[in-house]
Amino acid sequence: MSRIAYVNGRYLPHRHASVHVEDRGYQFADGVYEVCEVWNGRLVDQRRHLDRLERSLRELSIAAPMSRAALAGVLEEVVRRNGVRDGLVYLQVTRGVARRDHAFPPAGTRPSVVVTARRSDRRGQEALAAKGVAVITVPENRWPRVDIKSTSLLPNVLAKQQAKEVGAREAWFVDAEGNVTEGASTNAWIVTPQKKIVTRPAESGILRGITRTVVLEVAADLGYAVEERPFTVAEALKAAEAFITAATTVVMPVVRIDGHVVGEGIPGPIATSLRLKFHDFSELA
Ligand code: PLP
Repeated sequence: MSRIAYVNGRYLPHRHASVHVEDRGYQFADGVYEVCEVWNGRLVDQRRHLDRLERSLRELSIAAPMSRAALAGVLEEVVRRNGVRDGLVYLQVTRGVARRDHAFPPAGTRPSVVVTARRSDRRGQEALAAKGVAVITVPENRWPRVDIKSTSLLPNVLAKQQAKEVGAREAWFVDAEGNVTEGASTNAWIVTPQKKIVTRPAESGILRGITRTVVLEVAADLGYAVEERPFTVAEALKAAEAFITAATTVVMPVVRIDGHVVGEGIPGPIATSLRLKFHDFSELA
């Protein structure tokens, strides 16, 4: 089945799907995005992703490109046309196409919308989760508004590449106080030796991950103690477990941080149980 992308009102073959050279997303990264997991052919937590998209648009004063129901319809249609059973759907909204000028374009400029979908290798992901992944730490160098899911991701791109070059899957940003903020595309968690789950509060320094929100519900249901507070790299190195969360990875155990083994060096029972239970708690559209 050939891939289909949605671009500004049209469903196009992926190789012909393109936006204008003066799209503000292309020239200024002036846009926002969402990534939803597709699981057994269903969109995972679509409602929460669309809530967050609307918030990101509002924070940047970008107009909603269409009604929420229409947008949900496009997401579902792109998933359907691409025959995705397990994978991801990507949605991007930019401030539209206009003559290059940093300030906002004239009122009435239509936001651009792109939606793509792709399959993921569920078995490969499970195999990875059974082994765990390595992360590195890098200095936080992003703007303070990381609560907005903006397409402006250059620090994240550079951090991920740095991780990749040393065989790690993720880079954790560390702020000026020595606390881990989050990963380049995931939220960061540890489990203390006393079996308390710790993750940074979503009020500052991180994106409020949808997976994070659902994992907090799963943890409460499983009776785990959770502390939303910052943690340092030193504390993470002494943790019993560590893991990352995102729509792209669900709950992924971390077994090495900067080359140091975490806990037993294998995925821990708490991260594994959160991963197993996740889809019982997520909303399926
Ligand atoms: N933090 C960052 C910087 C991200 O880019 C992402 C996802 O892309 C997340 C956290 C996790 O968010 P979610 O669980 O909504 O996928």
